[in-house]
Amino acid sequence: MNYKIAVIPGDGIGPEIVREARKVLDQAAARFGFTLSYTELLLGGASIDAHGVPLTQETIEGAKSSDAVLMGSIGGDARISPWYKLEPSLRPEAGLLGIRKALNLFANLRPAYLYDELRAACPLKEEIIGEGFDLMIVRELTGGLYFGERKTIEENGSKKAIDTLVYSEDEIRRIAVKAFEIARKRRGRLCSVDKANVLDSSRLWRAVTEEVAKDYPDVELSHMLVDNCAMQLVKDPGQFDVILTENMFGDILSDEASMITGSIGMLSSASLNETKFGLYEPSHGSAPDIAGKGIANPIATILSAAMLLRYSLDQDEAADAVEEAVKSVLAEGYRTADLMSEGCIQTGTEQMGDLIAGKVAGK
Ligand code: NAD
Repeated sequence: MNYKIAVIPGDGIGPEIVREARKVLDQAAARFGFTLSYTELLLGGASIDAHGVPLTQETIEGAKSSDAVLMGSIGGDARISPWYKLEPSLRPEAGLLGIRKALNLFANLRPAYLYDELRAACPLKEEIIGEGFDLMIVRELTGGLYFGERKTIEENGSKKAIDTLVYSEDEIRRIAVKAFEIARKRRGRLCSVDKANVLDSSRLWRAVTEEVAKDYPDVELSHMLVDNCAMQLVKDPGQFDVILTENMFGDILSDEASMITGSIGMLSSASLNETKFGLYEPSHGSAPDIAGKGIANPIATILSAAMLLRYSLDQDEAADAVEEAVKSVLAEGYRTADLMSEGCIQTGTEQMGDLIAGKVAGK
């Protein structure tokens, strides 16, 4: 089986970390008996430099004709980069929003996993961390408050701002189906988060989620109010498997969940559409402050590549092997500079990639 992977190295540390993720993917392919063909595409600052715009039709078409997209990060240092002298619609970030829209990526997946070896980085107390946590936030990405009609009007000499929160049954159903499918690939528990005691959109969310649950008797569905969920994430994160929520709640809760892992260089993410297709990228940015120094942590991108194997290619065994390889390299004490602590062995970006790829290959 051959899969077509579109690769967007991006800006800053993007090309360095994507190179390592490709190395790991190649080893996974060789070991599990499939092949990968790559097409490199430009986005963000790299596209501005080449074409004057952050996103071209060529990049959209290239991504659409692939099975999945692996991306580094885009953007530069806004204080000094000439990209930020351009009007907002021509800046690097506009390319990212544009490609998400063009590919109809409505489901955002952000895992938060605490590696035993990195417990010291977790800001929670030891007794709260307990056995650790391994959760996945599934956030609706193209509807709700961020996409509803908005305006500011003036009434009796006073300004009034209006934002609209709209969700249709279909929008809720398609993200709920994604979340149930993901829960099925994990520990089979789904917590749907809403504000059904106040919002109509949340009451519809709850009703549709209940309806979809009938097709997934093997997944245990529960509901939680968003204010309670924000508390539970810092009180007992180990209780969660998959959290399903709407756009704005997910924006806030996924940042909270990533903070409790304490290590930005470890956080992967995926954005999926209705098919198996997805765009996979680290949660962090392009880190222009360390670009080109060979010290960036490639693990978030490598773990994003593992998600690509699992969710777009259905190569679960290969995904498991990549995740296990990361655990085992950390257990042996190897750390990039951002994770370094006493008694560990410091590695650069390339060496970390080599170590993980070596484990995947079974060395
Ligand atoms: P950032 O995530 O790039 O960096 C924040 C801090 O974390 C920096 O000190 C950086 O050195 C460090 N860091 C980040 N990733 C690391 C890694 N893999 N290894 C080691 N250290 C790492 O956030 P920022 O500085 O606010 O943004 C820089 C640029 O990235 C901006 O142009 C921003 O718009 C862009 N950005 C892009 C994305 C994306 O492509 N999805 C996301 C966030 C930010």
